Amino acid sequence: MAGLCAAARARELGASPVVYEKGSRAGGSMLLSSGVVWRYRSFDEFRTQCPGGDERLQRLVFDRLDDALEWLESLGAPVIERETGNPLTRGVRFDTAGLTDALVRSAGDVRLEEPVMNTETAAGGVIVLATGGFQADRELVERLIRPQTPLRVRANRSSTGDGLRYATDRGAALSSGLDEFYGRNMADVDFDEHDFVGLAQVYGRFARIFNDDGDEFFDHNTVSWSELDLVQATARQPGARAWYLLDEEALDERVRYGTVRELVAQAPTRTEPSQLPFAAPVQAVVAVRVAAAITHTIGGLRVDDGARVLRGDGQPLDGLFAAGVDVGGISTGGYASGLACALVLGLTAAETALT
Ligand SMILES: Cc1cc2nc3c(=O)[nH]c(=O)nc-3n(C[C@H](O)[C@H](O)[C@H](O)COP(=O)(O)OP(=O)(O)OC[C@H]3O[C@@H](n4cnc5c(N)ncnc54)[C@H](O)[C@@H]3O)c2cc1C
Repeated sequence: MAGLCAAARARELGASPVVYEKGSRAGGSMLLSSGVVWRYRSFDEFRTQCPGGDERLQRLVFDRLDDALEWLESLGAPVIERETGNPLTRGVRFDTAGLTDALVRSAGDVRLEEPVMNTETAAGGVIVLATGGFQADRELVERLIRPQTPLRVRANRSSTGDGLRYATDRGAALSSGLDEFYGRNMADVDFDEHDFVGLAQVYGRFARIFNDDGDEFFDHNTVSWSELDLVQATARQPGARAWYLLDEEALDERVRYGTVRELVAQAPTRTEPSQLPFAAPVQAVVAVRVAAAITHTIGGLRVDDGARVLRGDGQPLDGLFAAGVDVGGISTGGYASGLACALVLGLTAAETALT
């Protein structure tokens, strides 16, 4: 998303950008997403929810998002809903196929090929790195996020840290939150992109949560609204797995896409508590085996509020910008909309480079 936004804005400003896409189609994870581009209702809430994030970048995303959403609509991106369904946040839900079409049309020259990234390219002009993070690169995930076992990827598989490698090879600094990620606890089975939403088990806050050894490793009363803290903790358990144990009361709770009972009924890894490898609490009537899956990274390149990639000494690297998930440290300690960060940082990169 971020690269297309940067290119579309650069064209409006009179430049002739080229978007290189290494996948077989444009749109990246944006196309696979639920399409909700959102922010917290107040800046204080953003700071409270993501306390370790870079305040200048949070301010940028918060202040610019509403206008940026209007800009997206002005390109013809189709809106499905003007609500997020979450009292803490506000935003707009787009049809992601229509959003991708609108952005590709506006970006102009979008080539399905990997760019030849060398110093000559950099010297010849401006590069905006927007490769979507490093979640699909097993080595980087193991080194920086350190899950107990490799995580399944719940995102477009082309985001393998190319932007991060390119910039760090040239002296770029890394942000906070390198060991954090956005993801979901999924039913513990192999899946493809059609199951990214359907297999997500987002009701850990109503369950008792155990690992394979029978340790209750997370107090469900403390799970955050996004459940990211639980997902990250699950990634550090044996097999990066957990068991959600539910009693009758928990099954009657409502979540975004229905009741917990309805979701559990569709979970392919539900089982009888008596079948577990440990003694379950007596109230539990059903158990679901989940495994942590990664959607995108939270740490990444350090940038300033003009989207310039920074070196360790805080100075910008000449002609090098980053946007989207390649930018790290915006939501450290919590969760913020990846689509919003991609949109705002993409626009910002184009504007800083060209004005
Ligand atoms: C199931 C699901 C639901 C989601 N729902 C939401 C939601 O409702 N709201 C929200 O805010 N976020 C959501 N997200 C997250 C959101 O999709 C991402 O945060 C967002 O797409 C990030 O934008 P980006 O531009 O950084 O990366 P992407 O949109 O993934 O784009 C990066 C692009 O770079 C390409 N690329 C990688 N390496 C190279 C290279 N070397 N050369 C050329 N191209 C390269 C990739 O192929 C990809 O097309 C969801 C994600 C998923 C998977």
